[in-house]
Amino acid sequence: MYEKNGEKYYVVDAHVALWDGRESNQKNIHGKQFIDCFYDYHKNLSPEEVVWDYDAYTYYGGERLMKDLFVDGYVDHAIFQPAFLGDFYENGFGQTEEAWALTQANPGKLTYNHNFDPRNGQAGLDQLRRDAERFGLKGVKLYTAEWRGDSRGYKLTDPWTYRYLEACEELGITNIHIHKGPTIIPLDRDAFDVADVDAVATDFQGLNFVVEHCGLPRLEDFCWIATQETNVHAGLAVAIPFIHTRPRYFAQIIGELLYWVGEDKIQFSSDYALWTPKWLVEKFVDFQIPEAMTEYAPLTTTAKKKILGLNAAKMYGLDVPEELRLADTGEVGLEVAAGAKESVLS
Ligand SMILES: [Zn+2]
Repeated sequence: MYEKNGEKYYVVDAHVALWDGRESNQKNIHGKQFIDCFYDYHKNLSPEEVVWDYDAYTYYGGERLMKDLFVDGYVDHAIFQPAFLGDFYENGFGQTEEAWALTQANPGKLTYNHNFDPRNGQAGLDQLRRDAERFGLKGVKLYTAEWRGDSRGYKLTDPWTYRYLEACEELGITNIHIHKGPTIIPLDRDAFDVADVDAVATDFQGLNFVVEHCGLPRLEDFCWIATQETNVHAGLAVAIPFIHTRPRYFAQIIGELLYWVGEDKIQFSSDYALWTPKWLVEKFVDFQIPEAMTEYAPLTTTAKKKILGLNAAKMYGLDVPEELRLADTGEVGLEVAAGAKESVLS
């Protein structure tokens, strides 16, 4: 929970990771390229005083994660969104067992989302069913640009992806987070293109599609899709750190998102450990769209509360303490009745 000027903010960090990018886990040069590229994002967009040293960055472990998020970072609840990258890392990049053990050891604080790759066909589909049961999955993170053998990615519209998404609907894995946008060496930008979200969002009305990184740099493509599809949401990972180095660029991003997508469908996330939540939360609460940028409406305190946590809490059915809900609507984190939702949107 974060408090500033008498206002209290319930914070959900909707995109965090527990990775192992160490040399000992790298399979080939691409494992090194990938973690080095992450480190560049971290170093170039973070305030100088919160930049980690490289070795600590490649592997930090659960204890540091808990401190950075929950002790220092104001986070009330965090959601793992792991990337597998089995072609680049011996034991995968996101550490499933470690993250799952941490989730179990800290009840109510963490949600473990897993991943799937439709190129694994029937075997992967069977695995998804087992994973859904083991982890009690409510969500998955998809990485459409992931390499697998000769393949340099897949599309959400591929026939096998449809079968996996049908299984998600059936298994109650309702929150589909998709990395769409920023490329990371050696992956291909076009394999992260946001366009295929349009078709699956229309065809799977029972699923929420959270487009992580808002499709950047194709923000406009994302906005024109998201405004048409009621089940498409924006995840601010990678977008929000620009609040420090390029505040006008961030103002443009958040201004466009508020205009097209609306304050009820935007989720805060640090993308930990790409960045740490403490400074992001502080700067976001203090942030205002510059007056000179007259095309954009101001970023209200209510919008900030929704974006920082209440939107993701609603999607994940988190129990938000009474004092941190919106006073005017009595908005809760639990399953919201259709009537209640309308009153929030009006
Ligand atoms: Zn991502």
